[in-house]
Amino acid sequence: MTGGGLPAGVPMLAPAPARRRTFLTFAPPQIGQAEIDAVVDTLKSAWITTGPKTRTFEREFAAFVGAPGALALNSCTAGLHTALATLGIGPGDEVITTPLTFCASVNVIEHVGARPVLVDVEPDTLNIDPRQIAAAVTPRTRAILPVHYAGHPADLDAIEAVARAHGLTVVEDAAHAIPARYKGRFIGAGTNPAAFSFYATKNLTTAEGGMLTGEPAFLDRARVLSLHGMSRDAWKRYDQGASWRYEVLLPGFKYNMTDIQAAIGLCQLRRQDAFQRRRRHVVAQYTAAFAADEALEPPVARPEVEPAWHLYVLRLRPEALRIGRDRFIEELTARNIGTSVHFIPVHLHPYYRDKYGYAPDAFPIAHDNYRRLLSLPLHPGLSDRDVADVIAAVLDVARTYRR
Ligand SMILES: *Cc1c(COP(=O)(O)O)cnc(C)c1O
Repeated sequence: MTGGGLPAGVPMLAPAPARRRTFLTFAPPQIGQAEIDAVVDTLKSAWITTGPKTRTFEREFAAFVGAPGALALNSCTAGLHTALATLGIGPGDEVITTPLTFCASVNVIEHVGARPVLVDVEPDTLNIDPRQIAAAVTPRTRAILPVHYAGHPADLDAIEAVARAHGLTVVEDAAHAIPARYKGRFIGAGTNPAAFSFYATKNLTTAEGGMLTGEPAFLDRARVLSLHGMSRDAWKRYDQGASWRYEVLLPGFKYNMTDIQAAIGLCQLRRQDAFQRRRRHVVAQYTAAFAADEALEPPVARPEVEPAWHLYVLRLRPEALRIGRDRFIEELTARNIGTSVHFIPVHLHPYYRDKYGYAPDAFPIAHDNYRRLLSLPLHPGLSDRDVADVIAAVLDVARTYRR
């Protein structure tokens, strides 16, 4: 694996032909022998669901980001849903969030019966705009749900200032944000509930999985709600000497992580620093190659943050190209480069469009950027050759279709 050395001496890669021979997958999971051995060990251990490995993963994850506490769950969606339910948010309440996110961030607000209130994003980071949040607060607002888009932290100081002024809770969608820092501190290190995703394409994967960080007292209540509403540590009830007795305190959910997942997560956690070095190196090479092309707009990192670089979101400048984003993606596919789009804005999806009557330009910054953005392959398994292939293909398409 190529490590370290960032911008100052970003090496110029040898030019690659415009079409590579095999298809470059957008975001394959990084599974090594350590993960495979850990899963096999767990399967042989006679404890395959929530148990000691899950508890160890919670402790090590909390230590890694500096979180006050951590609750391992079977998805980030489960973490967000559990957080909102633990806060008692429900019918009649409003939660302010961003349209430029995966549907899960908004679906969970519907799950608890509250109303999602979307506000537009900032043009540079594409994160929720704190000034627009302030303008959208009503007496029914209970929470703000920022998403750290692509791994670039949202402007937490400004968001928390609005929250404090109106007595709101901030629940962070940190699906992209391991390991991201805002003003020196890891996302998840604060007292806001923050939900991380360990889905197959994410920076740390357990195939499916998630982690909710936050204050221990909050997580104690969330833990009960996340496992049928059963009294604490009911998962131990089949252990030797443990009592069969438990009480159901609430009609809770079935959101627990298994020890098989946690075993993978522990391996992935130990590889995060190396993963992150490689991601940053690839980002530096992409940006060095694209910055001078008038048709391409590389992603930004504000000075006060260290993004997790979950995604490399490249924006096209339509005034400099004869083709749009969709055709640009087709041209990259024809050159064997896998890409994706993050995200189709929530307000364009039929459920939200029809329920709340949104026009496409209801959030003009999210909408305009959605139409000209694409995500390039960015993962620690990319070789220097792969990176050179992506760069060659992108520049070839940009040059071929320059206006
Ligand atoms: C992946 C993702 C989620 C959902 O994560 P799961 O672990 O699959 O539930 C939520 N929000 C964002 C922004 C995501 O990208």
